[in-house]
Amino acid sequence: MNILFATTEFEGLVKVGGLADFSSSLPRALARRGQQLRVLLPYYGGIRGLDDAPVVAALPGGCLREWCPGPRGLRVWLVDQPHWRARGADPYARPGDGAWPDDAGAFSGFCRIAAWLAGDRLGLGWRADVVHANDWPTALAPVWLMLERVPAATVFTIHNLACQGVFPAGSGAALGLPSWLFHPEALEYWGQWSFLKGGLVFADRLTTVSPSYAAEIRTQAFGEGLDGLLRARAGDLDGIVNGIDEAAWNPLRDPVLAAPFGPRRLGGRAGCRAALLDELGFAADDNTAIAAMVGRVQTQKGIDELLLALPRLMELPLAVVVLGSGDARLERGLSEAARRYPQRFRAALRYDEGLGRRLFSGADLLLMPSRFEPCGLTQLYAMRYGCIPVARAVGGLRDTITDATSAALDAGEATGILYADGSPAGLVAAARRALELRAQPERWQRVQDTGMRQRHGWQAGAEAYQRVYQAALAKKGTVPFFVDVL
Ligand code: ADP
Repeated sequence: MNILFATTEFEGLVKVGGLADFSSSLPRALARRGQQLRVLLPYYGGIRGLDDAPVVAALPGGCLREWCPGPRGLRVWLVDQPHWRARGADPYARPGDGAWPDDAGAFSGFCRIAAWLAGDRLGLGWRADVVHANDWPTALAPVWLMLERVPAATVFTIHNLACQGVFPAGSGAALGLPSWLFHPEALEYWGQWSFLKGGLVFADRLTTVSPSYAAEIRTQAFGEGLDGLLRARAGDLDGIVNGIDEAAWNPLRDPVLAAPFGPRRLGGRAGCRAALLDELGFAADDNTAIAAMVGRVQTQKGIDELLLALPRLMELPLAVVVLGSGDARLERGLSEAARRYPQRFRAALRYDEGLGRRLFSGADLLLMPSRFEPCGLTQLYAMRYGCIPVARAVGGLRDTITDATSAALDAGEATGILYADGSPAGLVAAARRALELRAQPERWQRVQDTGMRQRHGWQAGAEAYQRVYQAALAKKGTVPFFVDVL
């Protein structure tokens, strides 16, 4: 099958969150299974080392470059145009400012290029059977395929329903879209243009990144105003848990770690913990648990709840480290907390993959008080590195963590602590439960060991996506959803 995979992040080139991990590891897994993948990505100014990548086609104002990072069957097509080069490391936000002013036209144009490539309009001798678009920036790909009359089937994956790409009613010209699409059953959303609706209404099949999130987004509480549309499309929506690249995340062979370790060989982990304490300047003894948080500093991730819970958490034998950046107000709150609790709280307000890995390998707990979590990858990395997640029971967290109830502990199935009460008090109670578990070393190590043995590679996920592509192809011949509603 020929699959054009449209995305705006790719591990190793440009990363804001889990979309980068997904966009490099799923296409690789599919290519290893014999599929032909073309990953379409903007060539941002922050991407380094690919200026020698050969030009394979001309584009308006620029060109298309091709890079083959392996395995066979995978090629990355980079859309090299001045407006993408003008963006630095963060494709979505101008440094110290809001969104880029040319977002509407830039991402719509990118989706149109996806349609041209899928239909081989640029003469590359390759045609897509399926176009797989991801999140709002590429959500107009199914719309442009329809407008350009390209017959490929389309799949749209929701990685985060809260980010919708909404633009004022007057953006029609910038988007280059016909005005008939400004319709409540098409792209109109409360008087504005919505990219996300383009994907949700016009793609043949929809997926999101966990079964629980697939169910949650069909409810008012998690639906971000689109739950009605998602209920209408429930029959076309699958929830598939993300995999991880198990070779790239292996504590037995991770050069960043102070010592290697693995299931039943946890000895090296003590060395990693000691090195981490040293790095952070914590004088914590073994009786103090180290809890880490790694991720975007946003209310979605429950950073505000952590700040509210902190006075009570600091009464426990616990040290807390937050690694991440994002919302300026929350970052200020974290910096203030670091001043208030110099002995037991640290905030590293930056992106730092090395420190992330050292935290997973040296911290005892990973806190994830997320309000919602489509899948979440950090808990998967943490479990693989023997760090026990303490997470709110939402979305992918409830699908990937087995709560340490006494039955699950007895059965040797527990991998973490899940809690239902999404409040600061709920987080404190969950941390207490984790500390009680840690006070029973045998049980604690069993939970660590069970977590490390979990298989979260892409095997099952890649198979599931292939089935979705087949379903999209089968659907292509039928009357599209939007014809019923327009
Ligand atoms: P989301 O996609 O909502 O941001 P995920 O848990 O799915 O959350 O993926 C986040 C990815 O980004 C993970 O690979 C995580 O380790 C990484 N990450 C996020 N923030 C940082 C940071 N400040 N330093 C290092 N890695 C980070």
